[in-house]
Amino acid sequence: MHNDPEILITEDAITERVAELARRISKDYEGVESLTMVGVLRGAFIFLADLSRRLTIPRRVDFIALSSYESDSTTAGEVRLIMDVRAPLEGQHVLVVEDIVDTGLTLDYLLRTLHARGPKSLKSCVLLEKPERLKVKVPIDYLGFTIPDRWVVGYGLDSGDRYRCLPYIGVVEPQ
Ligand code: IMP
Repeated sequence: MHNDPEILITEDAITERVAELARRISKDYEGVESLTMVGVLRGAFIFLADLSRRLTIPRRVDFIALSSYESDSTTAGEVRLIMDVRAPLEGQHVLVVEDIVDTGLTLDYLLRTLHARGPKSLKSCVLLEKPERLKVKVPIDYLGFTIPDRWVVGYGLDSGDRYRCLPYIGVVEPQ
């Protein structure tokens, strides 16, 4: 029997912040032919779904999957590409949509990898950031929330594949 995770960010606060981010992104990319949103699986799938539906500009959605963790709470320090995007990114306006920046290693690897493909522009939109754990400084163009160094779940984020579908961000003990 498990208790529900303690609430850190409510569903209402997430909805409000996602709407705000979508307004800023729509404004910043006004007039572009199309924005390619690259969601990082699996944690960003709900964030990407909500964000993409609120944008008022032409956009496409693609996904990429990376792995950097051997288990939930320990970083292996090595990032691997598990699944690539389908469409070529050369000449595209690309926005990486990530659930959380912890050490920063994953986003750093991803931005370097995608940059090498020659996009017209490359920016990042990150729901959560844990500044206390940062190992590499990565540029975050659009940020949802800064949070303390706790293991968070819900709204796409998991702990051992549990809690992904909670509508809020909650805190659990790392497994
Ligand atoms: P980084 O490379 O250390 O920045 O880690 C980024 C990845 O680690 C994220 O995309 C998540 O998959 C995972 N991660 C880091 N912290 C948490 C957390 O608190 N809850 C769930 N996943 C996390």
